Amino acid sequence: MYFISVILPIPLRQTFTYEVNSDEASFLKRGMRVAVPFGKSKIYTGIVFEILKGDPPSYETKSIDQILDESPIITEIQFKHWQWIASYYMCTLGEVVRAALPSAFLLQSETVVSLVKKETLDESKLNDEEFLVYEALTNQPVLHINDIRSILDRKNVVGILNNLIESGIIQVQEEVYEQYTPKLKRYIKLASPYTSEEKLKELLEELSRAPKQRDVLMNLFVLSSQSKKPIDSIQLQKKSNASAATIKALIDKEILEEFFIRKDRVQFEGNGVSEIKELNEFQLRAFSEIKESFKEKEIILLHGVTSSGKTEIYVRLIEEILASDRQVLYMLPEIALTTQLISRLQVYFGEAITVYHSKYSVNERLEAWNNVLNNSPKSQIVIGARSSLFLPFKNLGLIIVDEEHEPSFKQYNPSPRYHARDAAIVLGNLHQAKILLGSATPSVESYHNAKLGKYGLVNLNKRYGDVLMPDIQLVDIKEKHRKKQMTGHFSDILLETMRETLAEGEQVILFQNRRGFSPVVECTTCGISPQCPNCDVSLTYHQYKNELRCHYCGYHMAMQISCMACGNETLDTKGFGTEQIETELQSLFPKKTIARMDQDTTRGKHAHGKLIERLENEEIDILVGTQMLAKGLDFRNIGLVGVMNADNLLNFPDFRAHERSFQLLQQVSGRAGRTKKRGKVLIQTFNPLHQILQQVSINDYGSMYEQQHEERYQYKYPPLFRLIKITFKDRNLPKMEKAALWFGQSLEQKLKENVLGPEAPPVARIRNQYISNILVKIPKKQSLEKTKKYIGLVEKTFNSIKEFATVKVTIDVDNF
Ligand code: ADP
Ligand code: ZN
Repeated sequence: MYFISVILPIPLRQTFTYEVNSDEASFLKRGMRVAVPFGKSKIYTGIVFEILKGDPPSYETKSIDQILDESPIITEIQFKHWQWIASYYMCTLGEVVRAALPSAFLLQSETVVSLVKKETLDESKLNDEEFLVYEALTNQPVLHINDIRSILDRKNVVGILNNLIESGIIQVQEEVYEQYTPKLKRYIKLASPYTSEEKLKELLEELSRAPKQRDVLMNLFVLSSQSKKPIDSIQLQKKSNASAATIKALIDKEILEEFFIRKDRVQFEGNGVSEIKELNEFQLRAFSEIKESFKEKEIILLHGVTSSGKTEIYVRLIEEILASDRQVLYMLPEIALTTQLISRLQVYFGEAITVYHSKYSVNERLEAWNNVLNNSPKSQIVIGARSSLFLPFKNLGLIIVDEEHEPSFKQYNPSPRYHARDAAIVLGNLHQAKILLGSATPSVESYHNAKLGKYGLVNLNKRYGDVLMPDIQLVDIKEKHRKKQMTGHFSDILLETMRETLAEGEQVILFQNRRGFSPVVECTTCGISPQCPNCDVSLTYHQYKNELRCHYCGYHMAMQISCMACGNETLDTKGFGTEQIETELQSLFPKKTIARMDQDTTRGKHAHGKLIERLENEEIDILVGTQMLAKGLDFRNIGLVGVMNADNLLNFPDFRAHERSFQLLQQVSGRAGRTKKRGKVLIQTFNPLHQILQQVSINDYGSMYEQQHEERYQYKYPPLFRLIKITFKDRNLPKMEKAALWFGQSLEQKLKENVLGPEAPPVARIRNQYISNILVKIPKKQSLEKTKKYIGLVEKTFNSIKEFATVKVTIDVDNF
């Protein structure tokens, strides 16, 4: 008898066994998809894991419904990688498969399909059954797989549906995201009748009575002589110091003509792909250091300050890898924020780029998957967010993890709770590819690895093109409050500098962080927040119990009436947000264009892209925003970055709060002054002597690292200890508490004092589920594998206790 073991995209067991006949057994290969029955009436699409021959197992096995592929869609390297993910992050292979494959690959009984709207469809190309499905979907917008089973009066429908999906006739119903298409940009040129010299002379004569219009024209000539690129209208308006009305008048008189080009297409004019830029001496040095270091090391950390030209170095490396016929994976924290980068790379590599992101449509993702699987010329460079590391690469030569410190590389929910940087390193090793991590503000753990010599380390300390690092000043707002030099949340010096900057025609970015759910308490007189005596974090205010808690070790105390540091009764739990700043700005700068970038204003599909575009086109004078602003955006005209209040960043209750504050402040500062003129940064704070702020102001990553390293050692945090977080959820509070306590006590038997909690998180109930966490700290010398095994054992026993059956347990390895 023949059997196969199949991975199903569910969080149960690793694999499931199904019966096949001998023909099927000889046709099937590991990595093909099969449709299989599950439970009473479900169908799943699963992945063949093993083909087995032998006696039937002791339990009853079902037969498969259908084979869905002619050849494997998953490579052996992927299997190895996914098994590593499942074992490292303590989840099932099925959960990895569900995260890895585009949903259109995994039809199951719950899947809903609909027609892709097309103008015309050649119905004669469909066979009878395909036509029946098509017809049914013209009468009804969506159908369940089970409906289709009854329409066709057969069990096996997945194969038919797969064909219809592949030919682009139907699609899997899910939230559909449209890709953002950049808006057209307006350009100006001289109308054709005036291109002859004679006519032009006449024209200039005529215009001597309209000096403003004449001036515009003269400036248009100057600009055209300087560059072959088309002249955009804003550029012209600026250069000639003219109003939009003047330019419009010239267009109305048919002296000038306007035309529109999609912005990212402009560079393509002429010969399509441009030459790669020459590196300057510092970039060249870094580039050769990287290559030298790659001879010995698999992984290199490139620590290059903002705007040092890291991207151009990546470009050179990519070029070399492509020349050796290997693929490149370029990972970014968030694809939505990186249209700029994509068009930059397209200029050099044109068609060789595939962009992959979970927000792309199902069909785009299917196509990308197949392109990568077939090693097609289109997929030599894959740019993507974290899910791109699941693609079926054939021959990876290089993985670049850009902005490696970014928290969004970590997936928190659902399982697999993987860190894409770390999983990428494992993937790179499986392909024997090199891995380059890049950042202006590396994560403490990567820098630690570089210091240990596990990674090579290459530094780039100079901004490209003699641009100076921004001039960062701390503004003591405690003092400013005392001297009554504050207007709302603005210090006099911030307002003054804003006015100067705007007067010079430059733009201003204001940063106000408002993250976190449960506010930190802060004294409005002295700016100090109550701290946990056992841990290096601020206490968090819990309104419903009116107490202050540490959500790492569980220390708690009643909410205080007066500040423990200065004694004043001025403890405050309310922060202020971007919206409030925006309102204040409107009355301070009534004539300026003010915009806001935060989660509320970027909800719409294209809202974020549009804001960035308006900023680039200099249609915005002042932009207020949250940490969204910090992402690698390259704007030319930002003269000033203001940080409204650095303290709420520093007081965030997390062992990484200081590291993250340093990173965020350095990154937002990096938005200032990317051209010759030195940019200014003003950071308002109640604690101008805070170490982190001092380190930010003199751009001292080294001291920040040393100090954080020391603290992590003292308080047993990564990178010196590992962390595993175990979360319990249930609607019944006493039951959940009992379960968590049982689990914690079982862990303690072996792991002793390194088990912390159970402890309620700041938000202790979500959707009527009560929550509790246990944190396991694992010293470096303790075996990670054995610890996980032990946790797994405890979980297994736990699962067999009837009383706790409803309690949901999740395990998060490296939960930071
Ligand atoms: P980073 O990624 O380190 O912040 P970028 O790669 O974005 O820096 O470079 C900053 C700016 O300098 C970009 O506008 C880029 O086009 C320009 N630049 C960098 N290197 C070069 C080079 N070798 N030649 C010309 N321009 C460069
Ligand atoms: Zn504590």
